[in-house]
Amino acid sequence: NSPAAAEAVRIITELKNAGFEAVLAGGCVRDALLGRTPKDFDVATDATPDSVRDVFGKRNTLAFGESFGVIGVLPPRPETTEHPASNAKESAGKLMPTEVATFRADGSYSDGRRPDSVTYGDAEADALRRDFTINGMFYDVFESRIIDHVGGVDDLAKGHLRTIGKAIQRFEEDKLRMLRAVRFATTLGFSIEHKTFAAIQNHASDISVVSGERIGAEMRRVMTAPAVDFGLETLVDTGLSLHIWPQLQTMNWTEFSTAIQAAKRPSFEVAMAIALFHLPGDSMHTLRLIFDDWKLSVAERRAIEAALTHAETITQCDGLAWSKLQPILVDADAPTIVGTARALAPKSRGVARAGRALSGAPNELDPPPLVTGADLISSGMRPGPEFKAILQSIRDDQLDGKLNSREEALKRIPTGDE
Ligand code: ATP
Ligand code: MG
Repeated sequence: NSPAAAEAVRIITELKNAGFEAVLAGGCVRDALLGRTPKDFDVATDATPDSVRDVFGKRNTLAFGESFGVIGVLPPRPETTEHPASNAKESAGKLMPTEVATFRADGSYSDGRRPDSVTYGDAEADALRRDFTINGMFYDVFESRIIDHVGGVDDLAKGHLRTIGKAIQRFEEDKLRMLRAVRFATTLGFSIEHKTFAAIQNHASDISVVSGERIGAEMRRVMTAPAVDFGLETLVDTGLSLHIWPQLQTMNWTEFSTAIQAAKRPSFEVAMAIALFHLPGDSMHTLRLIFDDWKLSVAERRAIEAALTHAETITQCDGLAWSKLQPILVDADAPTIVGTARALAPKSRGVARAGRALSGAPNELDPPPLVTGADLISSGMRPGPEFKAILQSIRDDQLDGKLNSREEALKRIPTGDE
């Protein structure tokens, strides 16, 4: 009953009206049955990609992955043209195109990631080519009926993650599925069925054929799951970590779990910083390796680096003057820094103080200076290197509450004859 769900139902209705079969497929069926909000609603149909484009019109569709039979269907455009600007704004960014995939069977795999060819087939064949039983279900929205050719309903109820078909073969076809298994087990809190688990252990080193971007994308999901500690331990237990994040072998799990719990749903950056704080060795160096391998964004790397550099200053700020803390807190990455500090020392006075400052008014955190360079000049000083030092010492005392008014601050400016 979200706009995205309504859009999927609209698409299914149009396909049915044109005489095709169309159902919701995969992750959205799984999430809906679990009572979770699906990230997106995918449609599967017996209409070929060409037919899908005919039904919706070429200009309302995108060729997403035509070789795999996936077409993106755009949401309907608003009809009025009176206020083109506001219409453009409204339709942009809100609803993403819906993926409509033709039922298919995948051919052989030779590169360890993608099928060499696909052939269009029926719903059952399409279920069988999917990765895990819980991802292999369809939902017929008109008959309110789950279509389950793979035992997904049963595994979902038991909390089991299991490949469709022989685990060894399914991981040989597509190595990324091994990491997806750990990701789904982590985000859903499921246990990995033992043959599936054993197959990952046997093939773990093959994960190295998967691109860094794809590994990074899965690791972002693992790191932001509430059970991230279980997820990272599973990476170690399956042997996948050796090829993804070898340093994890030496993690102090008890301390890491405690810190993650204290952080309360950390962001990806905070979770990464917490993990790096609990690994022996040079964490900046490890971060640089991961940044390159997983193709992290510069913004992600900068935030994690800021947390590694400054989080401990916050936890230790009991005896520190506010003037030492304040420059850290006006940094754009302050939420990541403070979030990490909270995980490391939830009860410290510094964290409480920093948290209060961050949630307070910006003026409290970064009050306008009581005096400026102009005041120094009008009191007869000539601009020079000592300017900065004088202003800094006045600013520090202002932040530390030792100077409370402009008048007091002005008295600190050396007079001309001194
Ligand atoms: P989420 O969107 O929350 O990540 P999802 O299950 O929708 O979860 P997607 O990556 O969006 O995952 O894929 C959609 C569906 O396509 C899956 O549910 C699964 O049925 C199938 N699928 C995706 N990747 C693979 C794969 N590597 N091998 C086989 N089937 C896959
Ligand atoms: Mg999805």
